[in-house]
Parts: sequence; structure tokens; C-alpha cells
Amino acid sequence: MPELPEVETIRRQLEPLLIGRQIHSFQVMPGAERLLRGRAAFDIDAQVRGCTVTAVSRRGKYLSLQLDSDQVIVIHLRMTGSLRYRNVEHENEQFTRAVFRLDGNRELRFVDVRKFGTIDLVERLEDALPALGPEPLSDDFTADALWDALRGRLVALKSALLDQANVAGIGNIYADEALFLAHLHPECPAGSLRPRERSALHSAIRQVLQQGVQHGGASFRDYTDSAGDEGAQQYYVRVFRRTDEPCDACGTAIRRIIVGGRATHFCPTCQPVRQRSRQVTSKRRSR
Ligand SMILES: [Zn+2]
Repeated sequence: MPELPEVETIRRQLEPLLIGRQIHSFQVMPGAERLLRGRAAFDIDAQVRGCTVTAVSRRGKYLSLQLDSDQVIVIHLRMTGSLRYRNVEHENEQFTRAVFRLDGNRELRFVDVRKFGTIDLVERLEDALPALGPEPLSDDFTADALWDALRGRLVALKSALLDQANVAGIGNIYADEALFLAHLHPECPAGSLRPRERSALHSAIRQVLQQGVQHGGASFRDYTDSAGDEGAQQYYVRVFRRTDEPCDACGTAIRRIIVGGRATHFCPTCQPVRQRSRQVTSKRRSR
């Protein structure tokens, strides 16, 4: 599933290509109507025709195209969605579900094998978004902001990081990688972090996401960018989908467990289970 670095890669590619382009039409392929979440394709087509794209933005894993009509097209790629910027003559990709026809004989194609992706047209971006936590690469995302989201939570750290209301844009790949870098066990209760662990997790999150963006995203299964090319971050992961391979820090075999229903990869030596009993013991001694 595309996460922040993958969506940001697409945004950076599309921004110079789409700004100033006029939309000539919008079409959804038969059988793919549900990507509009109940809206009719002809309704969206009628509203976006003749509009010009003025900005290409990202919030969490959502990509948005601001139009000069003061409306916003909001796209979520979900599991297997991708976008292609093509010449009209370029052969249609398999699983093309929707097409924005643009001026200059260009097209923006929404390609999606599993059809979980969505396209919305709204007046205000917030109308299309659920509650989202801070943008982890923005200045607003401080160690304190992260702790505000995790404080008092008994849920496993891995699950807390995947909850978009806590921090926006993190998915399975970057959650596993950030926890490895911060030396934290994925099942550690989110609200139990000590100050030093909070700041380690905060910098680890930023580091893995920045690295992901630098490498053009991670292509494990389906992800490709708007030109159809793969990213390179999959060659740099430390634990994600490296089950039974040696940890490159200590040599221990990487383990795969399920946390909150999601496959989770970690190094049992670098990310040990918190020694709760020791905490209790030391408290008793200090009395
Ligand atoms: Zn290790």
C-alpha cells in the first residue's frame, strides 16, 4: 500500500506536470464506479470540465488537485492504486479505472488492480478527509506532538503508528522500520514510552519517511510512480519483509508476528520486550 513517501513521490512528479493543465473530461470505466463512493461519473465530469489545476498537494496518504473552480479532487490510492501521466496515444494500462483527459493530448489515469482506491470531488479538502494526526515531515510534528497522540494509550505501538488519527501517512512498511530504528518492540504499549524513547521514536519516524522519499518510495508488490517506474526504498529496509534474514545490526534472525491483524517485522535482540517486572522491582526498592 502506498504510504507517505510513495504518495509524496507521485505528488512531486505530478506537480510540475499538472499545474496549469486544463481538464477536458473525466471518465470512469464500466465496473469501477465504486471508486467514486456513490457519486456519478457524469456529475464529476460536468463539474471538472474546463477547470485548470492550480496546485497538487498531499495530506497523509491523500493526494489532492486544487482546481481554479475552488473545488478539490481528492485521491486515495489504498491497496494497489497508482496514477499515470501519459500521452493520449500511450496504450492504456491494464486495470485503468478512471481517466482525466487533459489539454495538450495528455491524460491522468487512475490504475487499480483491486479497486479499493477512491476519487472525491469536494469544496473543501477537509470534507473528504477523516481525522488525521500531524504531518510527520512538517515542523508541527515534534516529539511532544507525537506524545500527545500516544499518551494514555494501551494499544500496541505498531497499531498506534498505523492509526492515521495519531500520525498521518505511516503504513506497515515505515511503522516497522521506525520501530526498529528506535529499538522499540512493536507490542510495547504506546502510552508507556519514556521521554528518551519518545524522542527516539519521533526522530526514527522522520528519518525513515525522509529516506523513503529520497529513494522514490518502496516497490514491494504493486507500487510504481506516475511514470510507471519502481522506487528503491525496498533495497534499504532493515526489517520489513526480511523474516528469518539476519539483522544487519546484530545478526539475529528477523521475526514476523501479527500485531493488530497486521504482519509485523522486528529484531528480537535490537527491539527487546520491555522488562516490566524490573520497573516494578525498582519502585519497590526505592520505597
Ligand atoms: Zn538486531
